[in-house]
Amino acid sequence: MPQQVIRKNSDDWELIPNLLDYDAAREHFSWEHELEMLDGLPGGGLNIAHEAVDRHAADERHNHLALRWLDRNGRATDFTYGDLCALTNRFANVLRDLGVAKGDRVFGLSERVPELYITALGALKNGSVFCPLFSAFGPEPLRSRLSIGEARVLMTTESLYQRKVAPLRDSLPHLQYVLLVRDKTDAECPHGTLDFRALLQSAAESFTIENTDPEDPALLHFTSGTTGKPKGALHVHEAVLAHHASARLALDLHPQDVFWCTADPGWVTGTSYGIIAPLVIGATMIVDREEFDPERWYGILRDQHVSVWYTAPTAVRMMMKHGSALARQFELPALRFMASVGEPLNPEAVRWGEEAFGLPFHDNWWQTETGGIMIANYLSQPVRPGSMGRPLPGIEAAIVSAGDDGKLEVITEAGREGELALKRGWPSMFRTYLYEEARYQKCFRDGWYLTGDLARCDEDGYFWFVGRADDVIKSSGHLIGPFEVESALMEHPAVAEAAVIGIPDPVAGEIVKGFVSLRPDVDATSKAAVETLRREILALARKRLGPAVAPRQIQVENDLPRTRSGKIMRRLLKARELGLPEGDTSTLEGKE
Ligand code: ATP
Ligand code: MG
Repeated sequence: MPQQVIRKNSDDWELIPNLLDYDAAREHFSWEHELEMLDGLPGGGLNIAHEAVDRHAADERHNHLALRWLDRNGRATDFTYGDLCALTNRFANVLRDLGVAKGDRVFGLSERVPELYITALGALKNGSVFCPLFSAFGPEPLRSRLSIGEARVLMTTESLYQRKVAPLRDSLPHLQYVLLVRDKTDAECPHGTLDFRALLQSAAESFTIENTDPEDPALLHFTSGTTGKPKGALHVHEAVLAHHASARLALDLHPQDVFWCTADPGWVTGTSYGIIAPLVIGATMIVDREEFDPERWYGILRDQHVSVWYTAPTAVRMMMKHGSALARQFELPALRFMASVGEPLNPEAVRWGEEAFGLPFHDNWWQTETGGIMIANYLSQPVRPGSMGRPLPGIEAAIVSAGDDGKLEVITEAGREGELALKRGWPSMFRTYLYEEARYQKCFRDGWYLTGDLARCDEDGYFWFVGRADDVIKSSGHLIGPFEVESALMEHPAVAEAAVIGIPDPVAGEIVKGFVSLRPDVDATSKAAVETLRREILALARKRLGPAVAPRQIQVENDLPRTRSGKIMRRLLKARELGLPEGDTSTLEGKE
C-alpha cells in the first residue's frame, strides 16, 4: 500500500464552515439537492458503497488517502480511494462467486481490522445487507443476533471463530459461509470455514455494482440494549443522503479533513460515521485497532493531524479522569472540531474540552433507529453546554405529548417537557425492526416518529435532553430527568461518573437515588473519607437542585455498569437496587 503523508491543516487551507447561518441552511435545504451532490448509479439506482468509494476512485481523489489503519504498535497501513475500490470490488466478487445474493445478510465480527471495512463496503456493493457485531460479545448475544438476522455469511477472525462461533455453528442453519481472517496460513482452515485473504486475492478486481434501489435494505444494526433486549433496526441505501448531509453540516467534514470517529463499527456510530460518512465526503479516516488509552489517543490526534474528532461522553469522562494537564502536553494545531454522541454530555464535559483542547465538545443526538445525526450543535453556532443543539436541516423535531384521546399534541410552549419526536420520512429512518413489525408501527403516530426520549425545547429552538422515558423519575408530583441531576453531581470535583434512578417510596411515589464513581486521584481509602465526600456531594446537589429534585441517597461505587458502547445502564442499577431480575445483559461491558 502506498504510504502517504497526511497534509496538515495549515494556512493553505481556508476552510469555510459548511453551515454558516443555521436558519438559512434550513431554509435552503432539500433532500433532492443532497441527492444531486451525490453520483447515483449508472442504471439509476443508489448504492452507499458507490458513493463512499467508487465515485472518488473514479476521479482525482483516486490517490487520496481514504483510510489509515493503525495497528497495535501504532504502525500505519494506508488505503487510498483507489485501493479501497479494488479491494471492495474483490470482496464483492468473492460474495458473488459464492452465490451470495442481493438482500442476503453478511455479518462482520472482528476487532477493528481493515478486512472489516472491506467486508462492509464490499457487501454493500453486492447488494447484500451488512450487519456489524461487536467483537467482545459472548456466545449467546452472538447466537441470538446471527440467528434473528439470518446471517448467511460471517466474516470473522480465526481466534474469535474458535472461541465463540464454532460451538454455535449447529444452531445457525442459515450460516452457510464463514470467512476467516487468519494470522497463520500454514495450517488448513478449520472445518466449515474459508480463508478470507486467499479468497480476496484470487477474486477479480473489477466489479459492476448491483443496481440497488434507494429503498433496498443495506444495513442491519442492533440497538445498544440500554433499555432492554436489543432490536434489529433495518436501514436502506437511501440513508447515504443523511450520512452525507450530517457529515457536512453537523460534523463540518470537508474532503481535506482527517477524521477520527472513535466508535467501534459494532455500533451504529462506528458504521455510519466510522465507515460511511467520512468516505462519502471524500475525507481521510483514521481507524485505531486499540481500545481507549489517553496517551495513545492524544498521540493519535497529534501524529495523524486529526482535524475533526467524533467521540462519546464515556470517553470524555475517562479523559477527564486523567486530567486536562495530560491533554495539554500534546500540541494539536490541526484539531478544529470535536463532537460527541451516545449519551447526554454534561455541561462540565463541554467546558473540560475547552480547558484541555481549547475547543468545546459539540454534543449531538441520534439513535440506531434514526441512522444518522438528527440534532446537533454546529461549528458556526455557539455551543449551549448541556444542550443537544438544533435539528439538522431537513429534519423536523418537536416535543410532543399524547393526549387523553390518544391524539398527539405538539407542544409549542418553550421549556415544557415531553417526548422528543421526529417528522417521519427522512432518508436514514429505519424501515423496520427485523421481525417485529408491530413494535415498529407502534413507534409512529400522526406522522411522527416517537423516540422514547424526553426532552424540552427552549425559545431559540435548542433541544435539551431530560432522560429516557423509561428512566424518568416521578417524585411527589415532580417529573425528574436523571440528566439534570447527574450533571449537578458531576460538578463535584471528586465525581467521575454519576447515574441516578428512582426507587419506590410510600410517601413520594419515588425518591431519587444517585450512584457515583470517584476520580482515581481522590482519597477514598477510609470509610470516613468516603462518608465525608458522600455528604459533600449530597449538599452540593441540594444547593444546585433544591430538596425536591436532589437525590435523597448517594452511593459510592467503584464503577458503574455500562453497555459495551459506553452507556450507563440505569435499569441495571435499579434492578440490583430492588432485587429484581437483571433482564437482558448481553451488551453489558465486562461480560462475555
Ligand atoms: P436500546 O434502544 O436497545 O435500549 P439505546 O437506546 O442505548 O439502546 P442506541 O440507539 O445506541 O441504543 O442509543 C440511542 C439513545 O442514546 C438515544 O435514544 C438517547 O437515549 C441516547 N443518546 C444518544 N445521544 C445522546 C445525546 N447527545 N444526549 C442524550 N442522550 C443521547
Ligand atoms: Mg433506544
